[in-house]
Amino acid sequence: MHTHILPERLPNFAEKFGYGDFIHLVHHQPGRAQMMKGDTFFREIEANCWDPELRIREYAQHRTQVQVVCTIPVMFSYWAEPDDCLDLSRFLNDHIAQLVHDYPKNYIGLGTVPMQDADTAIRELQRLKDMGIVGIQIGSNINDRNLNEPEFFPIFQACQDLSLAVMVHPWNMMGEADMRRYWLPWLVGMPAETSRAACSMIFGGVLERLPELRVCFSHAGGSFLPTIGRIQHGYNCRPDLVAIDNPKPPTDYLGKFWVDSITHDPVMLRYVLDMVGEDKVTLGSDYPFPLGDLEIGAFIEEMGLPETTVQKIFCENSLNWLGLQKNAQLYSV
Ligand SMILES: [Zn+2]
Repeated sequence: MHTHILPERLPNFAEKFGYGDFIHLVHHQPGRAQMMKGDTFFREIEANCWDPELRIREYAQHRTQVQVVCTIPVMFSYWAEPDDCLDLSRFLNDHIAQLVHDYPKNYIGLGTVPMQDADTAIRELQRLKDMGIVGIQIGSNINDRNLNEPEFFPIFQACQDLSLAVMVHPWNMMGEADMRRYWLPWLVGMPAETSRAACSMIFGGVLERLPELRVCFSHAGGSFLPTIGRIQHGYNCRPDLVAIDNPKPPTDYLGKFWVDSITHDPVMLRYVLDMVGEDKVTLGSDYPFPLGDLEIGAFIEEMGLPETTVQKIFCENSLNWLGLQKNAQLYSV
């Protein structure tokens, strides 16, 4: 339920809008492209980032048939003018909607919306719903603003009203400029970002006020679950700092949101299952990127978990998060 995809060709948005380091692609040899952020090289990608048939074949090697796809977080472009971000988002969303339509047995789609402007985002949410896209992926902060900020609440409210799932993905990592070496933004920043997002949504009362909102936090919730003891203790000892917007303890929310399984560690996954329950862990891969679980859950099969638990992780929990039935028809014919 956590894989990334891009269209093979992207318009040159920087040229179109006349500003900004929007991502563009340079296809420099067959099956390979450079993602460029303005003039700066961002990442090399291969055909499995855009070729739907190749992705299905690669997944089949791991006996997996379905991929929940979303864009790559660097595409969010929350820093852009809202209308331009909408234009970009619609391009990406149309691509995913077409994919879901063309391969209904293999792909389920999550959209992206201009979080920096609620009215614009909500308009796109309605369109996503109409196109058969079942949720959205959002960043862990929006231009450094936390997810509890009041301007985002109407977007979450609309997701609940439209029954769209929300996947929170770390991006725009805190401290990135201070720790560029050793891939630290990915190894240290990303888990911290996800905890930041979870704490913000809990302490800010978003999850409390929207009990039907279905949220899944990436990378097994980042550092949120491993540090839940500290977070709960902080709530106990300094409610004057922590419980100012929501009187309920953070541990009350364990079992109310979903997390993916991307831990690379059976000991940690057992702990995560203990913390959130076996109904709330979904099979994530982060395919096709190297930091992902590219053996698509092989370590989970080797853990000796009850078969019913494995079934839940591999299938049922994702369906419940997405609000889908096994035989759901995702698009109107
Ligand atoms: Zn990811």
